[in-house]
Amino acid sequence: MKIEVQPLAGFDQLLTYGVSDKLIPIIKVGCLVQIPLGRRRVLGVVFSLRSEEEIASGKLRYISHLVQVEPVLNHDLIQLSKWISCYYSCSMESVLGAMIPAAVRDGMKAKNEKLIQVLPDLDQDTVKDALNRSPMQKKLFRELGKHQKPIRKTDLINKLGFSESTIKGLLSKGLAAESVEVVNREAYDDDLDFDRVDAEWELTNEQKVASAELTEVLEQKKFAVQALHGVTGSGKTEVYFEAMEVALNQGGGVLFLVPEVSLAPQTVARLRARFSKRNEQVVVWHSHLSGGERLDAWRNLTTGKARIVVGARSAVFAPINSLRLVIVDEEHELAYKQEDTPRYHGRDVAVYRSMLNKAVCILGSATPSLETFRNIERGKYNVSRLLKRIDGRKLPLMHIVDMRLDARRERGTPILSQSLIEALRQRHENKEQSILFLNRRGFNTTMLCTECGTVEECKDCSIALTFHRTDGYLRCHLCGFRKIAPAFCTTCKSVEVHRKGHGTQRIEDVVSKLMPRSAKVVRVDADMMTKKNLFRETLRDFRKGKIDILVGTQMIAKGLDFPNVTLVGVIDADLPLRMEDFRASERAFQLLVQVAGRAGRGDRAGEVYVQTYAPHSPSIQFSRKPDIEGFLEEEMEMRKELAYPPYRHLIRHIFRGRSLEKTEFYATEWRKILDAEPVPGLEVKGPALAPIEKIKGYYRFHLFYLTATVQEALKGLAKKRAIFPLDTEIHDILDVDAHQMS
Ligand code: ADP
Ligand code: ZN
Ligand code: ZN
Repeated sequence: MKIEVQPLAGFDQLLTYGVSDKLIPIIKVGCLVQIPLGRRRVLGVVFSLRSEEEIASGKLRYISHLVQVEPVLNHDLIQLSKWISCYYSCSMESVLGAMIPAAVRDGMKAKNEKLIQVLPDLDQDTVKDALNRSPMQKKLFRELGKHQKPIRKTDLINKLGFSESTIKGLLSKGLAAESVEVVNREAYDDDLDFDRVDAEWELTNEQKVASAELTEVLEQKKFAVQALHGVTGSGKTEVYFEAMEVALNQGGGVLFLVPEVSLAPQTVARLRARFSKRNEQVVVWHSHLSGGERLDAWRNLTTGKARIVVGARSAVFAPINSLRLVIVDEEHELAYKQEDTPRYHGRDVAVYRSMLNKAVCILGSATPSLETFRNIERGKYNVSRLLKRIDGRKLPLMHIVDMRLDARRERGTPILSQSLIEALRQRHENKEQSILFLNRRGFNTTMLCTECGTVEECKDCSIALTFHRTDGYLRCHLCGFRKIAPAFCTTCKSVEVHRKGHGTQRIEDVVSKLMPRSAKVVRVDADMMTKKNLFRETLRDFRKGKIDILVGTQMIAKGLDFPNVTLVGVIDADLPLRMEDFRASERAFQLLVQVAGRAGRGDRAGEVYVQTYAPHSPSIQFSRKPDIEGFLEEEMEMRKELAYPPYRHLIRHIFRGRSLEKTEFYATEWRKILDAEPVPGLEVKGPALAPIEKIKGYYRFHLFYLTATVQEALKGLAKKRAIFPLDTEIHDILDVDAHQMS
């Protein structure tokens, strides 16, 4: 027999190896093996098995070692890896790297604990004799006798102060026995203290209808995608849970994806509360797990002990057996797109994996992505709707604050408007909580007129132009157009043009100063994400009412449920509008709807203050009601006009290098090659300097391709790339279905 192995060692090609007789009966597709490669020994994954006849004559090298008997990848994941590497134009090795956690690759062992217990039915006199001259052993014997069950050896040593030799002595005298237990390292073990997780409700009528629709789809036992559109607070989670029950009853596994790790604890607590009742273990899966936690999760899944996984993007690769249901919560979230190689989109991979498994995929959101909306329009996906909030709770009242007026009054760009300051003070007096929300994702380098709200845009691409301090030019980062930044607004001729923005730190300071001493203002931002406990503790304090005003970025905009929050302030609603991104309006809209959903979740109605320089923009006007379909339809028109996604796919081609001139030169040469003999069906924009022009010493230029068929386009591009004489100092990367423009 010979096998095809995909090496995990910078060699992107399947290689053929022989298998020794001993291993033939046990080796399987998906197994991790060690192989000789040149002079090295490297790890690889078995991709296929071939029979004897196919062996070519000549020297065949043999695999050196089978790392573990259980395959590390099941069949569907191998299929999935092939599709990802092809569709996202990335190396197979990078895909397998994302699929097989390092802990598994390194073959880490399960964590075993030694347990000690006294033996039953011992003769009292024998014991006395044996322990007569060993007071410590006697003490240990008594201690063990006190407990009815075996005690961990580590506890005996670390907590009770016994020594290794005392334990050994007792064992050798035959008075105690040692056993081994496999310990489970479970993530978020401590999060079950969320209130209300145990409540059980009668489903609302809308929830019942949606659940029935999903049950029907699941019962057909074939691949289907069902969108679930529910306004914030309409009880989507409960509907997911109902569908999960059905899938579990069918004997299948369930994957539950959430956009961000930081939001997982709340979902995990709800899942565990619900599914522990039927003795289902809920496995948490995300990139912040320790090696041990990861390995245990892995083992519980591959052995079928657990079949529910909840996690962020990378959980889409969790080795769940007979996957029946995949839930993508907040499917519109940007966080599902991975911005490093392999640059996959978690939602789209989830859909593809569902297809491979003939499973059902639910795409849930209050503000669906245009991609999903289009698939519904085309009849590819079905949709269920939840139009009302639970208990008929009202959506909060939304105030649009025209910042142009405050700016005029203060002659500058104030952080907080008078009306928002007033409202914050009022809440504090009423002992209610507030959230202040800041959209951090802009580069603050676009030109905004605070008199009329105009933002300088590119005529061809309808995205904001970006200001470059170095040469005073405004540039379009899609097509490369540039012009000298005017000293006044091109619409109203005002000289009040501004190019600055604010950070969370600054807002925290300003708010603290404006509020009474007794008000506790706390900020959460991206730095906190690296300290996972700090972020969770802050949210817990907020929930418990220890914090009055929480200031944060988009990470606090969604998914969280705080009953005592009655005011939400959006500091700068149109920062996304000013971004150099054609999805800016979609983002701004999603954000406003999500943020507004944070207010008034308890019994009191909420209020939202939205500060903006563009009060009439569609994203702001439609979010007011909110009129979700209305917005989607209008935005679709705009996309259609320019044939932007979702009408075509967008591929971003990045060139990076240490030398600005060289990088620009090769990007420009490449464009010439594309122009000389165009790839059929490919519209090319650029090259342009990327908005973040330099990262870690590398300059970046990019081109954008719009195409109806990704595979065709990639093929055409690959042919040209193969013969393009790119300097070794310049690297180029393709980002298929790119979401990040910076
Ligand atoms: P969404 O995800 O749609 O924003 P959630 O699923 O978080 O909404 O539900 C909103 C709130 O309503 C949660 O606090 C949830 O516990 C509660 N809830 C959900 N379903 C019901 C129901 N049928 N009856 C009462 N409360 C419910
Ligand atoms: Zn103006
Ligand atoms: Zn342009």
